[in-house]
Amino acid sequence: MDFLTIKELDKNNAIQNYGRYDVAFTYGEGSYLYDSEGKEYLDFSSGIGVASVGYSDPHWVKSVCDQVSRLAHVSNLYYTEPYVRLAERLTALSGMKAVFFGNSGAEANEGAIKIARKYSYDKYGKGRGTIITLFQSFHGRTMTTLTATGQPSLHQHFFPFPKGHKYIMANDQSALEEAMTEDVCAVMVEGIQGEGGVIPLEDVYVHKLAKLAEEKDILLIFDEVQTGNGRTGSMYCYQGYEVKPNIVTTAKGLGGGLPIGAILTDEKCSCVLTPGTHGSTFGANPICCSAANGVLDILTRPGFLDEVKKKGDRMKNVIRSWELPAIKEVRGKGLMLGVQLEGLSPKEAAADLLKKGLVVLTAGQDVLRLLPPLTITEEEIKQGLNILHDYFCRF
Ligand code: PLP
Repeated sequence: MDFLTIKELDKNNAIQNYGRYDVAFTYGEGSYLYDSEGKEYLDFSSGIGVASVGYSDPHWVKSVCDQVSRLAHVSNLYYTEPYVRLAERLTALSGMKAVFFGNSGAEANEGAIKIARKYSYDKYGKGRGTIITLFQSFHGRTMTTLTATGQPSLHQHFFPFPKGHKYIMANDQSALEEAMTEDVCAVMVEGIQGEGGVIPLEDVYVHKLAKLAEEKDILLIFDEVQTGNGRTGSMYCYQGYEVKPNIVTTAKGLGGGLPIGAILTDEKCSCVLTPGTHGSTFGANPICCSAANGVLDILTRPGFLDEVKKKGDRMKNVIRSWELPAIKEVRGKGLMLGVQLEGLSPKEAAADLLKKGLVVLTAGQDVLRLLPPLTITEEEIKQGLNILHDYFCRF
C-alpha cells in the first residue's frame, strides 16, 4: 500500500488522537526502519524506548516464533513456563521479591498505586491513600495514572479526576519533607523524567527520598517504564542511585516490541495482592513473556550494559563538544539522552530530521529526546550524530 492510501485510510477510519508524522513504516532491521516508499531511516527513538534490541533481531524473533507456534495464550487460572522463567530472572536482576505481569506502563503504574493503597489500608486503615508525584512527571493515560502525571496541562476534559494525589517539584528536598504528611502512602518518581524533558533526579534528592520514605513507612515507587531494562546503562535506573524502592514498574523495552508491563515488589509488598484483588486477562501472556526472555538474554550478555553506558557517554560528550548556539544542554544517562534546544522548536527539528533519515523524539517544551536501540553500533551512532551536527550547524 502506498503512503497516501495508508494516510487516507487512517483519516477515514481511525480516531484522530495522534499528531502523526508523514511517514508509514513497513519494516525494520537492526537500528534501521524502512517506509512504504522504500526509504531508509536510522532510528534514534526505538518506538519510544520499546525496540530495545532493535528490529528483527534473530534471537528475539526466534524467542517469539517458537512460542507462537506452541501456545499463544492461556488464562491466569493456569501456570505456564515463560512467565515463571521471566519472573525468576526479573527478581534476580532487580533484587525485588515478586512480579505481577500486565500489558503496558500505565497498567503497571495503576497496579502499583493499588498495591500502595492496599498496603497502607491493611496496616493503618482508611485515610492514608495519597500518592505524591512530581511536576513534569508522566505515568500514563488511565484516569488514575493521568491524575498521578504531574502535568496540569493534561488535567483537562476528563473530569472528575480521582482524588488522593499531590504534586511537588523534582529535586526540592524541603517540598518533599513538607509533603510527606500522615495521609500519604507512596511517592512515585521516574529516575529520569522522560516525557517531561529528560530531567534526571539528583542523587542527594533520591537518597533523602528513600530515607524519609523508610522512616515514615511511605512506599517508594520507581516508575521505570521508560528508564528500565538497560536503557540508562544499569538494568534499572534506581540501581544507579543505589537505593531500594518498595515497588518498581516497567514496560516499554521489556518486551522489545510486544506489549508487556510488570510490577516488581519488595518483601514488604509482595503479599499485598491476594486472589481476586487484581488481575489482567492478557497479563503474563506466553508470547510476550518469551519476547521479554529473549530481550533479557541479550541484555545480560557479558559487558552489554557497560557498552550501553559507554555509548551514551560518548554520544553526550560528542554533542556537548559541538558548542552550537541551537543546543543549550545535553543531559541523561546511558542511551536516554535529552538535547535541550535554544530558539528552535523540537517538533519542527524532529520533522526536519525525519526528512533527513533520522528518527528522533521530543520531550517537554524544548527538548529533543534520543532513545536509540540499545544494540546500536558505534558506526550507526556516528552516522546519526553526523546528521544531527549538519542540521544544528544551520542555526
Ligand atoms: N510511565 C512512564 C515513565 C512513561 O514514559 C510512560 C509512557 O511513555 C508510561 C508510564 C505509560 O506507559 P504506556 O504508554 O505503556 O501505558
